[in-house]
Amino acid sequence: MYLAIDDTDSSKGMCTTFLLTEIIERSGLDVIGMPALVRLNPTVPFKTRGNGALRVNLGHGEGQARRIGVSGNRIIRAFQHGNEAISGRDIIDMAEQVVREFAELQEENTNPGIVASRIELPEEFYWRAVRDILTVDDAKDFLRKNGAEFVGIKNGRGLIGSAAALSWKGTRKTYELLAYRYPHPGQIPHDLKMSMASAADSIPGTFNNVDRKNRHAAIFPSEKTPVILGIRGRDPEALLDQGMEMVISWKVGHDRILVYESNQGTDDHIIENPEKLQDYHTYRISARVSSFPYSIRGSHYFCHVMWRESTVKIAAFEPTKEFRHKFVKLVPGDLITIYGSYISGTINVEKMELVSGAKLYARVNPECTGCHRPMKNHGNGDYRCPACGERARVAHYTAINRSMNEGCYDVPVIARRHLSRPFDFAAQTVEGLRS
Ligand code: ATP
Repeated sequence: MYLAIDDTDSSKGMCTTFLLTEIIERSGLDVIGMPALVRLNPTVPFKTRGNGALRVNLGHGEGQARRIGVSGNRIIRAFQHGNEAISGRDIIDMAEQVVREFAELQEENTNPGIVASRIELPEEFYWRAVRDILTVDDAKDFLRKNGAEFVGIKNGRGLIGSAAALSWKGTRKTYELLAYRYPHPGQIPHDLKMSMASAADSIPGTFNNVDRKNRHAAIFPSEKTPVILGIRGRDPEALLDQGMEMVISWKVGHDRILVYESNQGTDDHIIENPEKLQDYHTYRISARVSSFPYSIRGSHYFCHVMWRESTVKIAAFEPTKEFRHKFVKLVPGDLITIYGSYISGTINVEKMELVSGAKLYARVNPECTGCHRPMKNHGNGDYRCPACGERARVAHYTAINRSMNEGCYDVPVIARRHLSRPFDFAAQTVEGLRS
């Protein structure tokens, strides 16, 4: 029986992924296949952090099984197949009990949704939830039409995420290993975090572990939730073996570890070449730069581009750190491809490609045609050679080195979105990679 949950946490605490481990623990059932952590439209205004929803298939396991986590001294295994061992109603009742016990229900923005289904649901809903803005009624209609059972708590907004998690097919997928303790065991010294995040970087296929330049250990989230650390990877074997052993050896105070499959790092949220731009959607568009970049207080940078005969404002905000040093080098005439979310008339750039750089020229004094020395400017288009007196009326233009090559530019790890696929994925070959 598939179970999906979403919207149980608030910015003050808890994490829906931890609740899933609690549900697995209490169910006493086997996990069939890997649990899934599915990120949805990153611009939704009511999200707590990364707009993630969770799915697991629980039953009596059959076939081969492999370790995908630990809970205390118990090994959590994922079975290849399974028999249905619980009804939809029973699994929802059990999950609801856990949600009511742990969820931050006192918070206005916490509105859990729990869904059970014997089958995975049609993929169409996932694509809408990762790219579009949906309503709770959209989710309820979709779930009823597909015979799923569900419970919404408070306004039940979490049903959107839960329905989407059940309809994610994982055409493009990555993995994440999460280690937990509830309550969180407390701060780890920053230097130690940095060295552990660097060690995680040595696990093949892992990504977004550490940002050395900004001294940011990205595998460690804030200490407000039960998540101690999360290592993202593209090679499931490396994460399940080397990753799991490494984390166990660190003794970070965890009492649970679970590896999920995920749509993180897939660019699934990006709508390619749209007809028009709508608020709260993320796009990939090719455009021509039409202004020099400028900054405002707070070190946020903006620039204008021409796209489909209209002018669009694009931005590199302060959190994108050194990415702004590239952004500021754009010049009118550059042909760029940008990826980013459109909100209130501005695209917040999350990565960009300089497809074809405009040539920039500087006006210089002409060279003497006789003795090849630089001429002197006497004003009003009067250039004279200081050696032989030769005169010229027009300046010379010479190409300036742009100090920005054509190519792809990611924001640094500290500023990356869960769903964003770093350009350097294309340069790496990883065993077990799906796309
Ligand atoms: P965390 O990542 O820590 O679990 P979160 O960032 O996932 O937290 P939630 O608390 O789950 O945030 O809140 C996001 C809410 O947005 C959920 O209720 C979810 O159902 C809803 N949601 C997800 N996708 C969409 C969408 N495309 N349109 C409208 N609502 C959505």
